[in-house]
Amino acid sequence: MQSSSYLSNALVSLLANHLSDYPDTTLIRFTNGEAPITRAAFFSTCERYCAFFQNSGLKQGDRIVVQTPKSLDSLCLYVATIMAGGIYIPLNPDFTDTEVSYYLNDSQPTIFICMLDRTNTLLQIARESNVRHIYSLGVDKSGSFYEHINSQNYEFTSVAERHEEDIAAILYTSGTTGRPKGAMIPHRALGSNASTLCKQWKFSKEDVLIHALPVFHTHGLFVATNVALVSGAEMLFMDKFDTEKVIQAMPSATSLMGVPTFYTRLLQHPDLSSAAQNMRLFVSGSAPLLAQTHEEWTKKTGHAILERYGMTEANMITSNPYDGIRKAGTVGMPLDGITVRITSEETKEEVAEGEVGSLEMKGPNLFTGYWQNPKKTAAEFRSDGYFISGDLACRDEDGYISIVGREKDLIISGGFNIYPKEIETVLDELTGVSESAVVGVPHADFGEAVIAVIVTQQEDELSQSDVANYVSSQLVNYKRPKHVAFVSSLPRNSMGKVQKNLLRDQFKTLFESD
Ligand code: AMP
Repeated sequence: MQSSSYLSNALVSLLANHLSDYPDTTLIRFTNGEAPITRAAFFSTCERYCAFFQNSGLKQGDRIVVQTPKSLDSLCLYVATIMAGGIYIPLNPDFTDTEVSYYLNDSQPTIFICMLDRTNTLLQIARESNVRHIYSLGVDKSGSFYEHINSQNYEFTSVAERHEEDIAAILYTSGTTGRPKGAMIPHRALGSNASTLCKQWKFSKEDVLIHALPVFHTHGLFVATNVALVSGAEMLFMDKFDTEKVIQAMPSATSLMGVPTFYTRLLQHPDLSSAAQNMRLFVSGSAPLLAQTHEEWTKKTGHAILERYGMTEANMITSNPYDGIRKAGTVGMPLDGITVRITSEETKEEVAEGEVGSLEMKGPNLFTGYWQNPKKTAAEFRSDGYFISGDLACRDEDGYISIVGREKDLIISGGFNIYPKEIETVLDELTGVSESAVVGVPHADFGEAVIAVIVTQQEDELSQSDVANYVSSQLVNYKRPKHVAFVSSLPRNSMGKVQKNLLRDQFKTLFESD
């Protein structure tokens, strides 16, 4: 392994510096039987991948799109891209070919690493998007990526010189206009957020973090992974969340980061109380954690879940305190160095304590803007540099913030964000549909479920299965409606806007018994 000298560059220099701190300690343990990997071994793999990328002609600021199932390689490719001076763009492995095509066209990557079993179609799609290098990656170290990596000894020389404001990653986030937009995340935001979270949540090399989150989203890729990398903690890596596996892992772990669905499912397990004895920290975020879940958890385990709030564009923003009261139903206070204000929609002035307003923030955690979309970027910032989150919030007398609603009509199902407009656009393309409205309704397991309300051009023209078949060819499973209702017209207000609140009310008990 190289000395840490090259690691003082701005990349997530922190991240790399700390990797070289404890070379012989385990960085990742797996629950699928794979051999554990030390920090030194992980880092040397990243160096080899980095050398390969640089050898392929990757220039600073070039994009690398990666669509692979969660694996050790997902993390190596992330760190290697950053070391090579590239911009990392992870895609959900479940994205359909149509979706992948959109991301490739939008981000124009130099390199696309795709799943081996989808190579045939994705090769074609990537060529149509003029991607220069396309490599396949299979489980069991197969695919053209490995053939290249193993074809010669790629000697790592140095990490690319990067400035704090250089972009490290682009994460796509869906918009109300339907099309996902790429949030450009600079090195500064990742570095500052990782060190702040390590400090405030007291992560150290004594920790073992259960990592059961996907690694194409800010929560699993940045919050969980960067915190472990920077603090020296070990990760107990799971392909996906599995109640039984998490329960089994707890006695040899110290911490878990999850979405509320993890916690509601774990609460059903008879061994939760005993399994959780040695744990020191349970963190929840990405969607609202019900106060009831928080209370039940404390009763069963003796631990108060630490709820935090964040978003793709701003990493982590607020957190309940490590020491001190973790208030159920709140997301705590702004993290060190971050300022949050809650403003009135009308006056744009800060609202009084207890009043609901629009949550805005400023700090080193913020993204730079939307990829190739200066107009959208400008629309989301106030003139004094505050970013408008789109969330509605209020602050109590102790300074704790509660997220009370979403200005943008976002649906959060199983921790995934779903913007109705994207689904409505797909539905409206279907022959026979005259218009559609998509809303989220309460669901015991997923938090919210997607419901589609469709007005057809002629009665009985479409069946549930017509809609389901079309939607499955266009959208990843979590975005597909769990129920489709055919109606003769949509409720509208006097301004012609669809009254989604009425639809939510109409269907709110649909999944009550689930
Ligand atoms: P994403 O960009 O996918 O991370 O989603 C960000 C959005 O998730 C935020 O704007 C919030 O609406 C929501 N969110 C994240 N954390 C919480 C939380 N603890 N409570 C309520 N909503 C949350």
